[in-house]
Amino acid sequence: MVPAKIRNAKVGLRQGRCIPARLRDKALNWIKAKKIEQDHPARRTLWFTRSTLRKAFALDGCAICTAVHTSERKGIHSFLYEGMMSPSVRQKFLDGGGFCLRHFWMAKEIEDETWLTGGFGMAILCEDLTRLAHAGLARIAAAEPNSRTMLLRHPEVQPFVLGHDCMFCGDNLEKEQFLAEVLEELVEEPEFAKPLATYGLCIRHGQLALQIWKDPPKRHELFARLQAQGAELGADLREFIRKHDYQYRDEAPGPEHDSVLRAIRSFVGPDPCKPKTKKENS
Ligand SMILES: [Zn+2]
Ligand SMILES: [Zn+2]
Repeated sequence: MVPAKIRNAKVGLRQGRCIPARLRDKALNWIKAKKIEQDHPARRTLWFTRSTLRKAFALDGCAICTAVHTSERKGIHSFLYEGMMSPSVRQKFLDGGGFCLRHFWMAKEIEDETWLTGGFGMAILCEDLTRLAHAGLARIAAAEPNSRTMLLRHPEVQPFVLGHDCMFCGDNLEKEQFLAEVLEELVEEPEFAKPLATYGLCIRHGQLALQIWKDPPKRHELFARLQAQGAELGADLREFIRKHDYQYRDEAPGPEHDSVLRAIRSFVGPDPCKPKTKKENS
């Protein structure tokens, strides 16, 4: 048991003062994680990942997509809040060509919802990128006109390619790989096995898990689950299409009614410009 003095100190309140239960739970979780970190660094990582996956499964759908989505939003928020003011971090961002399409819009949306009176972080970043784009244009303008194929064969002509090594995409790749590895360890526990059997994984993360998982029975079971999931989705889409034929339009909608949305999520995950919440799925 953590002494009350420490418990209260961690949330910045004097001993004896009433602390809201939510803050108290958060602080206690933080202290618990710190203790695990000091005693067993590997267990600490697993503890956090277990908690991340548990929360992601609670929101339905592919848990890896959800966990990555939550993580990338936090990462971008932190970058806009303070990371971008660090010269080395800003340079890494610019070396990668800035944001990719996905993360550009996500960053704009996060800035809009976080700094309601208007943020200027995106303006600073766009100004940096404008200079890079300008330099790319100048390099191309200075080269001899040529066909696209020929242009690509001339490495000295380097067009500006937005987000060619987007650092948030890099973080996502690492994160999803790690989550897929940990999921293999956790999948025998009912609290993870049950939602995985119910919701499965998206196509990208299903394939990733099949590539990574080493245990043959677990791989076999996952493959069977993903195949069943794909067959069910295909059947729902066919039913959706059938009911849109004028002959059957009077039939009441069934489980197929949201099959197009489910199909899109299975290909690309949740809408990147929305926080992943249960409400989104309803
Ligand atoms: Zn996924
Ligand atoms: Zn990206």
